[in-house]
Amino acid sequence: SLFNFQALHGRLTQALPFSFGSLRLASSFKAADLAIERSTACKPKPEPSSLVFGKQFSDHMLTINWSEKEGWEAPQIKPFQNLSLHPASSALHYSIELFEGMKAFRGVDNHIRLFRPMLNMDRMHRSADRSCLPLFDKAELLECIRKLVEVDQEWVPYSQDASLYIRPTFIGIEPSLGVSRAGKAMIFVIVSPVGPYFATGSFNPVSLLADPAFVRAWQGGVGAYKMGGNYGPTIAVQHEAVKRGCQQVLWLYGEQEEITEVGTMNLFIYWTNEKGERELVTPPLDGIILPGVTRQSLLDLARGWVRQPERRPTKSITQLFLLY
Ligand SMILES: *Cc1c(COP(=O)(O)O)cnc(C)c1O
Repeated sequence: SLFNFQALHGRLTQALPFSFGSLRLASSFKAADLAIERSTACKPKPEPSSLVFGKQFSDHMLTINWSEKEGWEAPQIKPFQNLSLHPASSALHYSIELFEGMKAFRGVDNHIRLFRPMLNMDRMHRSADRSCLPLFDKAELLECIRKLVEVDQEWVPYSQDASLYIRPTFIGIEPSLGVSRAGKAMIFVIVSPVGPYFATGSFNPVSLLADPAFVRAWQGGVGAYKMGGNYGPTIAVQHEAVKRGCQQVLWLYGEQEEITEVGTMNLFIYWTNEKGERELVTPPLDGIILPGVTRQSLLDLARGWVRQPERRPTKSITQLFLLY
């Protein structure tokens, strides 16, 4: 039967998720129905050089509501404001929450561009499916986001070192404490002008804590999805890293202490291997790695330049090579 095939498929190839929510595919909101209410009290834009990651937000936001009864409502762009949520909302109790992270850049030609945004829409759609949240048309959501960036275009920094971070978010707002599929949900998108992610700048080394006592994700889990529940528990580990004089966590996995990710980033190693060959190594998408757009893009670019073996570097082999 179809069900058996999908279950088997899911177990064998974690990277190609099967559909949990296919019953909810029926409809989507449409960007053509977007209602725009402009802010009458626009804030002053910050200096690009003063930006700290994710602390300042633009003048507008996008919201799209869904309910089991009514389906998707028309998308809205409105002045940036607090949400009003029922205190039993499932996102607050059971982490029925997922997000995306993408950027709009202002080019030297003054055109604003998003970087491969459809890959973010694909990933968000997979996370929604895994969270039993309603599905949607990815191109329609992207068009709504494009419109939001257009409305807030002055918030895209006039700088080569800064960009506008876009945070699409999807939450279950079922007002019930039952651990069950959310019958109400909301997509919202906020945008924030940002500088480099690390305070030390983009091209300076960071030191890493590699302690196998801490695990970010595991086979059969949800590490391959950008769900909020994957990130909250890492904060104590990050804190531990700082206490031990490191800046970030190098996440290890399994008996062999395989290297998986760094902090909330995918990881590449460029080295000359045992046989003297130059290699670009990154862990394969086996269910515990978040399938990053940056990862995909680096592999796409470097294909044909260097060997790209599918291998899982371990802590010990990495130490050996990087020390020598
Ligand atoms: C978001 C994220 C990445 C990077 O994804 P990009 O699409 O390249 O921004 C890598 N690892 C984790 C754990 C992430 O949450």
